[in-house]
Amino acid sequence: MPQSPTSVAAPTLGEVESSLRELDAAIIGHTKWLTEWNTRIICGIPVEDRYIAEGSHRESYFGRWYYAEHARFLHQHPSFVAIGERHRRVHNGMSTIAKKVNGGTPPALSIYRAFIDAEVSLSESVIALRDELYRLLLSFDYLTGALNRQAFFHLLELEYSRVIRLNEPGCVVFLDIDNFKQINDRYGHAAGDAALAAVASFVMGNMRLYDSVCRYGGEEFLICMPQTTSATAYAIIDRIREALSQKRIAIADNHEIQISASFGIATMSAAEALTDTLEHADNALYRAKADGRNRVGIWKPLP
Ligand code: GH3
Ligand code: MG
Ligand code: MG
Repeated sequence: MPQSPTSVAAPTLGEVESSLRELDAAIIGHTKWLTEWNTRIICGIPVEDRYIAEGSHRESYFGRWYYAEHARFLHQHPSFVAIGERHRRVHNGMSTIAKKVNGGTPPALSIYRAFIDAEVSLSESVIALRDELYRLLLSFDYLTGALNRQAFFHLLELEYSRVIRLNEPGCVVFLDIDNFKQINDRYGHAAGDAALAAVASFVMGNMRLYDSVCRYGGEEFLICMPQTTSATAYAIIDRIREALSQKRIAIADNHEIQISASFGIATMSAAEALTDTLEHADNALYRAKADGRNRVGIWKPLP
């Protein structure tokens, strides 16, 4: 999930979903591979070279998944990293045992136990990764793919503590779609949902990697822009506002509509509570609406 310019890559909802699907397929592939090998060992059928050869771990179904391209967040995940070595140890164990059995001698108990230990530790890492992917799934709002409030506020509070500790700038931005009720009234709730998802996807696709976007509620979103001054935030957000207002958004029955949104920006500061900054961003949004919508307001302290 999005964090800061220096932290790990942020997964999207789609990346988490496809990572889970691929991991599940790899687990089934590994079980099949193991079962086939096991059948040969138990029944005294010579084990084929593909289980024995150097690098067999890369050629196995699980290995082909592991060594393929993945989303950046997955490559960086500690459980994913641990899986590589543990999986290689499982295959080394299979190879050693298979060579013994092919040569007509049963493996020593210590060799078999080392193989079982390797398989157990691989399973532990795989389960930890799977749990983590499910936990990540729960950080998203399912309709829009934006972060949910719980996940977002965790990040926002981390960002706020960085602002206090390092006295760095950072901005929060409220986004509220303009006249959204009319879209529901005119085209129906399902079309409204499609439009909402399209707006969220457009905004998320145009923010920087380390910005995070949350569905705050209804058709309102809250954005965190770490290490960003209000002038930079304004430039980025106003560009997105303009591009969004020009964009044609597909809803039901090949129908396209245009949507605009209003934004309110406030800068986090060590001198004020985060709740105050959020209120200021909300006030700036309120002004943008009052000034005619499709605009960006910046909260400024009174002189
Ligand atoms: P304004 O420009 O003042 O923001 O006008 P608005 O019509 O967007 O504002 P208002 O807050 O009055 O209405 C927001 C509407 O958004 C009301 C609600 O029906 C709709 N809405 C909220 N959540 C959802 C959702 O998940 N799906 C759909 N389709 N509509 C939603
Ligand atoms: Mg609203
Ligand atoms: Mg609205």
